[in-house]
Amino acid sequence: MSSLKIKSIKSLKNLKNKTVLVRCDFDVPLSHKNTESTKAQKHKSTIKILDDSRLQACLPTIEYLLKKKAKIILIGHLGRPGRKVAPELSLLPIKEKLEKILSKDLRFKNYDLRINFTNHQSPITNHQISMLENLRFNPDEEKNDKNFAKKLAGLADIYVNEAFAVSHRSAASVDAIKNYLPSYAGLNLVNEIKNLSYVLKNPKKTLIIIIGGAKIETKLPVIKNFLNKADHILIGGAVANDFLLAEGYKVKESLVDKDYIEEAKKILIKSKVKSQKSKLQLKTQNYKDSKIILPIDFVWGNNKILDIGKKTIREYCAIIKKANTIVWNGPMGYFETKKFANGTYEIAKAIFKSKARVIIGGGDTNQILNHNTAYIIHNKKVFVSTGGGAMLEFLGGKKLPGINKLLN
Ligand code: ADP
Ligand code: MG
Repeated sequence: MSSLKIKSIKSLKNLKNKTVLVRCDFDVPLSHKNTESTKAQKHKSTIKILDDSRLQACLPTIEYLLKKKAKIILIGHLGRPGRKVAPELSLLPIKEKLEKILSKDLRFKNYDLRINFTNHQSPITNHQISMLENLRFNPDEEKNDKNFAKKLAGLADIYVNEAFAVSHRSAASVDAIKNYLPSYAGLNLVNEIKNLSYVLKNPKKTLIIIIGGAKIETKLPVIKNFLNKADHILIGGAVANDFLLAEGYKVKESLVDKDYIEEAKKILIKSKVKSQKSKLQLKTQNYKDSKIILPIDFVWGNNKILDIGKKTIREYCAIIKKANTIVWNGPMGYFETKKFANGTYEIAKAIFKSKARVIIGGGDTNQILNHNTAYIIHNKKVFVSTGGGAMLEFLGGKKLPGINKLLN
């Protein structure tokens, strides 16, 4: 089966003087530094962008549209303002950052789309690049409100989704808007779908899925969806605790999500049936008959499993070595503390050393990579997804609201 085809902005012939509404992912991590000054002055807040990789991801699309002489209106959200105006979550710092990166002035529109509906002749379109204030200041955005989507659509001729990380949300600016404008995928979104659908549709075997982290409810759909497709699924992090408990292992005070133990049990039963198809000759003692591989030793702290142990690392690394395709989401342990980060870093090292085509994603998993960029630079086959939840839902086999209508 070939990979999914998605309508790219590159398929548009003439963009000259067309107004293109580009939904970007502006949800970057910020630091609010409060600088104390004299009594007379108020607290001055300087906002710093801690990681601009999400902005970098939308640059190719912006630059492409500029080259094609299109007019651009950038839209996006930042944080969780709670469906109301929250000045500390203004997109102004993002605008300033983009101005620096692009060496261009951006026009910034702060108007309230609820009352101040501006039609297609809006002055906004006379500027080469404009940007609207945080869409989530408007309660209608997260409600996927039709009228709000229509108003946004009224500003432009074409809609482009370049916000993969939000594409699992039914929000007006990623979902409903596609009903009102010819809609296309941005260059980064095309790349996301290409890489992720490769794993779903035609990955080169041996395919190994590595799942760790903590939010088990977001990971189980991926595990289930790959029980047939993957050669093995290696589990670590707190996600493993539910499976270990399901197997009767005493996890003591480890982090578990009790709501999912029954489901973990069911998955393990299926996993053992499916394993007969596996081609890998595993030397594991406990789980050689299972498609799902669980840790066999641990690093404990305060009666909690906080990392995978040395034997597990050795075993997981041996499996990783045989892979031709690897998907990795979620740290193997409580990696924020150095004492419990070893498992995660050893697994990361093995992944980057392997010959496999690698697909990685997840908010925390990408954080780990930020400290290990040296590995990535030497391995061109690594694809780092910009979507955490969106990637998991896509790999879990769900249809994403931000992507429907963009697929051919
Ligand atoms: P991602 O964002 O990459 O999808 P998650 O959000 O699911 O990952 O999980 C990351 C979190 O899981 C980290 O904060 C990490 O400390 C935590 N974690 C991993 N293993 C354990 C464990 N054994 N016990 C407690 N927390 C863990
Ligand atoms: Mg996370």
